[in-house]
Amino acid sequence: MIIGSHVNYGSESLLGCVKQTLSYNANAFMFYTGAPQNSIRKKIDEENTKKAQELLKENNIPMTNVICHAPYIINLANKAKPEAWDFAVNFLKEELHRCELLGVSYIVLHPGSCVKEERETALKNICDGLNEVVDNDTKVMILLETMAGKGTECGINISELKQILNGVIFKNKLGVCLDTCHLNDSGIDISSFDNYLDEFDREIGLDKVKCVHLNDSLNPIGSHKDRHANIGYGTIGFESLINVAYNPRLKDVPKILETPYIEDHAPYYYEIKSILEKKFNDHLKEDVLK
Ligand SMILES: [Zn+2]
Repeated sequence: MIIGSHVNYGSESLLGCVKQTLSYNANAFMFYTGAPQNSIRKKIDEENTKKAQELLKENNIPMTNVICHAPYIINLANKAKPEAWDFAVNFLKEELHRCELLGVSYIVLHPGSCVKEERETALKNICDGLNEVVDNDTKVMILLETMAGKGTECGINISELKQILNGVIFKNKLGVCLDTCHLNDSGIDISSFDNYLDEFDREIGLDKVKCVHLNDSLNPIGSHKDRHANIGYGTIGFESLINVAYNPRLKDVPKILETPYIEDHAPYYYEIKSILEKKFNDHLKEDVLK
């Protein structure tokens, strides 16, 4: 099982991420190169990166288990303000460069939001943006995340993801990240996840799935909300999430938890333990706060 969680890049950059991951008894992780809601980024420290990569190696964790997440502020779908769109394109280029310096192969991207653009135009804008960013020499794969359909989000079903992928020239530089909370909120029944995978395989191909965000949801199927819940504490439920985590068709794909902190404490050590033991933790809060 390749499993981990969101970790903080803040204090010790990549090295801190690896240390947190090991403390959660995990073998994968995902991080933002700075705050997800802004574009302030510090320079990549070579020495720190080297130490992080060595620590990963000592623990037999390959770099393919390490995933970056682009900040939410990047919106390639809306060209109404050309300078904002250019900013998004350039920022994404810089993020890819930072990933390259860190040795990271995957970056998750929210495809974007239409805002006031027509949906068809918005989807085309996303393709235009990706075509500006990605060329034959790009070493980092961009993973389009499945979205809940909150507001005017794009990438809310297989057909939209397919449309975006088909509009990109260097398709081999793109993949997909499935988020169980977002899928549930977009209208997919996670208790019959294999039906979804069947359709995804027919339309896009399961080889495109390079990451799974394993989250429970606070809201019912089709609610278009996007509020994550701790594993087994939401409407998807423990059994269905275990079935996703252990699905043999996604065996080699990292499973990343983005579940909420409990009173400012990361719940990941205990949630990962419960997934590895396939046993629901009905006293998660007590464990995390003890
Ligand atoms: Zn996610």
